[in-house]
Amino acid sequence: MTQTLQIERANHLKDKPDVSTIKFGTVFTDYMFTNKYTPEYGWSEPSILPYQNLQLSPSCQALHYGQSVFEGLKAYKNGDDVLLFRPDENFSRMNKSLSRLSMPEINEENALNALYELIKLERDWVPGGPGQSLYIRPFVFADEPFLGVRPSETYQFNIILSPVASYYGAQLSPTSIYVEDDFVRAVRGGVGFAKASGNYAGSLLAQKKANELGYEQVLWLDGVEQKYVEEVGSMNIFFIRDGELITPKLNGSILPGITRKSIIQLAEYKGYTVKEEAIHIDTLAEDLESGRITEVFGAGTAVVVSPVGKLNIHGVDYIINDNQVGPAAQELYNDLTDIQYGRIEDPFGWVV
Ligand code: PMP
Repeated sequence: MTQTLQIERANHLKDKPDVSTIKFGTVFTDYMFTNKYTPEYGWSEPSILPYQNLQLSPSCQALHYGQSVFEGLKAYKNGDDVLLFRPDENFSRMNKSLSRLSMPEINEENALNALYELIKLERDWVPGGPGQSLYIRPFVFADEPFLGVRPSETYQFNIILSPVASYYGAQLSPTSIYVEDDFVRAVRGGVGFAKASGNYAGSLLAQKKANELGYEQVLWLDGVEQKYVEEVGSMNIFFIRDGELITPKLNGSILPGITRKSIIQLAEYKGYTVKEEAIHIDTLAEDLESGRITEVFGAGTAVVVSPVGKLNIHGVDYIINDNQVGPAAQELYNDLTDIQYGRIEDPFGWVV
């Protein structure tokens, strides 16, 4: 069912910033999308409004019990066109998150159409500099004022937009990673596969610890045996082992990244052998030691591909590929960003 989208115009528009100097996630555009859910009418009030603060009751459910999920994707500028990369995948993943958190699913088609309208209205905010993009943040939270522990009856779905600079300067650079064997991010049967806000709150302390030890990000092990590699920071992780591309198999506690899925498809298309398997941390250490593993990289929307130059496993630092960007990471990064920015033809139909 298509719904009528109300648009409320802003009285005046903000000045556009110099995107190359702004910090990630600090500047927001003129408009936002919003929709409200009630048990009687479902998601029935879609509108585009001037970007504004929300009014919430202090007893709002999301603030107490955390029924809150989000998504993240980007819009890219190509000449006069604005391109989105697999936005349908984000709304489909959002519905899986919503369902896991006992929250009402959205209509994916209506959400996509609303996003297209919002981006059309805000097209001048999509920055055109190298590596720049407009970050899109859809999120749903429970707004019922009620302190009982049960699913909220009412919800809000919002989409906000934020222009962002290139994550890297002119070129990719390797990061350092600390394998966390005390804290875990997610457990089997839990909410790790969902983009639940609370997953990120729970990860911050380990991130702080890694930073204090001199590493940029955390590599998470599984929450059951604490032996199997899951993901790195807020990215999925890949290895080049004996020339093949390896990544942990999805198991319910790993977030199924859209970049992960795209890299697997792209690598297969380019002739790589790709394997999804359980990767034991001790086997990983042996394979780094013996030189079977020649590259390690993370993959996610924010960075696309992030090469790992140093990995600390149980107190031992392993230097990967001389702390240089490896050829597979560079090649996959180039191809994927070329597709996202429309610089080469998209053989997969990912770009809209
Ligand atoms: N894992 C986690 C925990 C994440 O937050 C993200 C970012 N959404 C990813 C992996 C990568 O997912 P995507 O490629 O869809 O951005």
